[in-house]
Amino acid sequence: MLRNVMRRGAPLVGINPTPFIHRKLPLLPLKAVVASQVRYLNLHEYQSKQLMAKHNINVQRFAIAETVEQAENAARGLKADEIVIKAQIHAGGRGKGEFSSGLKSGVHLTRDPKKVPELVKQMLGYKLKTNQTTEDGVLVNKVMIAQALDIAKETYFAILMDRDSGGPVMVGSPDGGVDIEHVAATNPSHIFKTNIDIDSGPTKTQTLDMAMKLGFQGKAVEEASEQMQNLYELFLDVDATQVEINPFGLTPQNQVVCFDAKIAFDDNALFKHPDILSMRDTTEEDPREVEAEDCGLNYVGMDGNIGCLGTINLFVLTQVNGAGLALATMDIIKLHGASPANFLDVGGGATTKQVSQAFKILTEDQNVKTILVNIFGGIASCRTIAEGIVDALQNGPKIKIPIVVRLQGNQVEEGKECLRRSGMNLTLRDDLDEAAIESVHLAAS
Ligand code: GDP
Ligand code: MG
Repeated sequence: MLRNVMRRGAPLVGINPTPFIHRKLPLLPLKAVVASQVRYLNLHEYQSKQLMAKHNINVQRFAIAETVEQAENAARGLKADEIVIKAQIHAGGRGKGEFSSGLKSGVHLTRDPKKVPELVKQMLGYKLKTNQTTEDGVLVNKVMIAQALDIAKETYFAILMDRDSGGPVMVGSPDGGVDIEHVAATNPSHIFKTNIDIDSGPTKTQTLDMAMKLGFQGKAVEEASEQMQNLYELFLDVDATQVEINPFGLTPQNQVVCFDAKIAFDDNALFKHPDILSMRDTTEEDPREVEAEDCGLNYVGMDGNIGCLGTINLFVLTQVNGAGLALATMDIIKLHGASPANFLDVGGGATTKQVSQAFKILTEDQNVKTILVNIFGGIASCRTIAEGIVDALQNGPKIKIPIVVRLQGNQVEEGKECLRRSGMNLTLRDDLDEAAIESVHLAAS
């Protein structure tokens, strides 16, 4: 399973957000686009709220703390009657989570600022486990100290790209605060969905109607409707695939407030938003993926079933076939009884440096028993790639595990000759099936 499945704001039941180009994109050199592409950018709640505040969306006043002392000062500085302390991790379900310190809940309310340090002490530096994290939980490095408000009503509101309608939809439920997947499963009639016209945005009638369906009354209907319109503006401006507010709440003073926030972005449009990209916090990401991305490689760490056959590390150099070739290779490995440890694609314009970097990342993974290099030579020929491999192996880190290479396509004979002439201990196979069987065999021995 891909690690990124475990992330906040995963698709709602029955609704599949899909990347969507909101506006005509300026034509940029392909290289610029590829270089800045980030998969699954995750923002913390406080970062999402910073973006929201710029769009006149009602969020509470807050400060961010990385130490107990900062938290104490922040709590005093807010001059609020009540303080809410919220652990900042990329996963949701924090309210019902538990810290490795034993403290229950990643969201705490207190009227006594003196209580802030003792609570924060049990949060920072500990792991918070929620129903959206792994069993291990996620290390908490930051807490949000915010002005708490009383909540008279908790609803759910989201805007997302919907594959079925091929455009944005608004989704709302009067049953907010809780897991929306649970509402979808147990009480689907409490979930309302409205298609939005991508050209004109949601109409006033649509947002007023949604506000009433969520149970807002009196002047709060108008305010909720305005907040929905502002949220849609944000959705467009940041090229989001999902903006999810849960709870989208009401205070006893009839003010509509976004108490929580999760934004998912269209990764293909992120190059237009360097300010948002600069907010990225990679501490919760797989360091191998971050390292690979820094040198323009696509790497996905896999859970893999490291069974008796061991794990094969997949190293796929692809050109025109792109990720498809890598996926096919992983399928064939699975077919022969082993599991890939990862997916690594260096893309069509691979440089020797990138090939070398790729080998370095692969050899740092202790689970890797064999490297399978599967290449279809296209624009970059088999010869060019083979020269890159030889250079990387001769001048890069020493590799002690077996390497199986399968070359096909443009200049395949020259490529094979280059590998043979290098005198390196590589197993060459023409057929992918044979290469996979050999890799599985070598990984098991
Ligand atoms: P999540 O559990 O990760 O989704 O975190 P939330 O930000 O949604 O917080 C969880 C719950 O804490 C919310 O559903 C609210 O019931 C409660 N909560 C959060 N902020 C406040 C606040 O300012 N005031 C009050 N009274 N409750 C809050
Ligand atoms: Mg929430």
